[in-house]
Amino acid sequence: MRIYNTLTKKIEDFVPYEEGKVKLYTCGPTVYHYAHIGNIRNYIGHDILDKTLRYLGYDVTRAMNITDVGHLTSDSDSGEDKMEVARKREHKSAMEIAKFYTDAFFVDFEKVNCKKPEIISPATENISEYIKIITKLLETDYAYESGGNIYFDISKLDNYYCLTNQDSNLVVGARESVDEDSNKRNQADFALWFTTSKFENHELLWDSPWGKGYPGWHIECSGISLKYLGEHLDIHGGGVDNIFPHHTNEIAQSESYLGHKWCNYWFHNEHLIDESGKMSKSKGAILTVSVLEENGYDPLAFRFMCLGSHYRKQLLFTYDNLDQAQSTLRKLKNKIQSLKDEGNIDETLFNKYVSKFTEALENDLNTSNALAVLYEVLKDNELNDKTKIALVENFDQVLSLDLLVKEEKNNELDSEIQGLIEERREAKKNKDFAKADQIRDDLLARGIKLIDTREGTTYEIVKD
Ligand code: AMP
Ligand code: ZN
Repeated sequence: MRIYNTLTKKIEDFVPYEEGKVKLYTCGPTVYHYAHIGNIRNYIGHDILDKTLRYLGYDVTRAMNITDVGHLTSDSDSGEDKMEVARKREHKSAMEIAKFYTDAFFVDFEKVNCKKPEIISPATENISEYIKIITKLLETDYAYESGGNIYFDISKLDNYYCLTNQDSNLVVGARESVDEDSNKRNQADFALWFTTSKFENHELLWDSPWGKGYPGWHIECSGISLKYLGEHLDIHGGGVDNIFPHHTNEIAQSESYLGHKWCNYWFHNEHLIDESGKMSKSKGAILTVSVLEENGYDPLAFRFMCLGSHYRKQLLFTYDNLDQAQSTLRKLKNKIQSLKDEGNIDETLFNKYVSKFTEALENDLNTSNALAVLYEVLKDNELNDKTKIALVENFDQVLSLDLLVKEEKNNELDSEIQGLIEERREAKKNKDFAKADQIRDDLLARGIKLIDTREGTTYEIVKD
């Protein structure tokens, strides 16, 4: 497989530390609010990576954290813990909030057919791991204590900015108005453990050799990854906003702790944006997968929309784009469901198309080319239906669009629509065109489009 590596800024051949095995880490959600569809796009990107590796025959072990402490309102060390913000907003305990939004996250995650990682671990359950790492970083002088907090000293590293090359505008910290922290030797140093300065009213506190406190944001991913996936990580991923400071800091602390290279490939997904720019949990009403569903959309239409573009390109979300994706996915599924499960699989043609599909994915996860192979299969007159069905089933291991799952027909709705079609026909017969048009428009407003043909009127659900 060839994959873009943020560390080298190149598309490279993927070679894991251990042949045939992949250790994969995904940065998980901060559970102080619902995950918006931008967050979910990021997890769909990781799901494709995970499933592609398995499809190619790798034995994958994947871990993901749940950030339930330590992520401050700024990605640098200023502001308040996001969980504290939620606690004040909702008058609940931090753990109640974490549980509620973790559950909500996985509901949406599974609605878009993302597979759960083998290991899912909340930041709050690995405190002793962070203490172990921080203790060693202090002993080896990579970290220092100041004002009661523990900071990582970035001046100890020659290649601290290895992910961003320093000149990159991805250095978000540089753009944010960061509150000066007088405890830091260098303002670019980052916190490993907070005690006194960020102590105020913080609900979650643990004993540590440096006093009661709580961990900084970045240490959780190093701690969880090292604990569950070992000292050598193959791929670590997140959204592009994680490149700096989060992943930069993870590399600094993990490699200083280990004394050797840690992770070889860094995988980053571009953002989903809306017409106002980047989506954000702290900005206005949160558009979630469940909200899309309440508005009549199939969550898999959203997945399909994401797969139509490359994970390293920004994707603009509009309802028009989603309508289009939903209608294309419907047509695709209708076509697949009209295939007859008869005949014998043509092994030669089957293998030819599997190779084409694999090639698309092996080329830096080119999902839109992979979908093009699926269309090619459905159009190819040389292929019998049995072979087509076998290929669809094979491709859907990665695409996960439920291509062979039959949509349940809603009988109640169907008979209501048939009644209205009849009423409209009557109205037309009586030259009451206003009424006929009204029936058509009312149905369309509900996402039901009438189609007049010579044989009579049928309908298509454009939203359900
Ligand atoms: P958070 O819950 O804020 O920690 O974000 C969870 C993941 O979603 C992180 O890996 C972010 O990089 C990613 N992310 C945040 N905003 C977007 C967006 N608009 N589009 C895609 N991914 C995003
Ligand atoms: Zn992380």
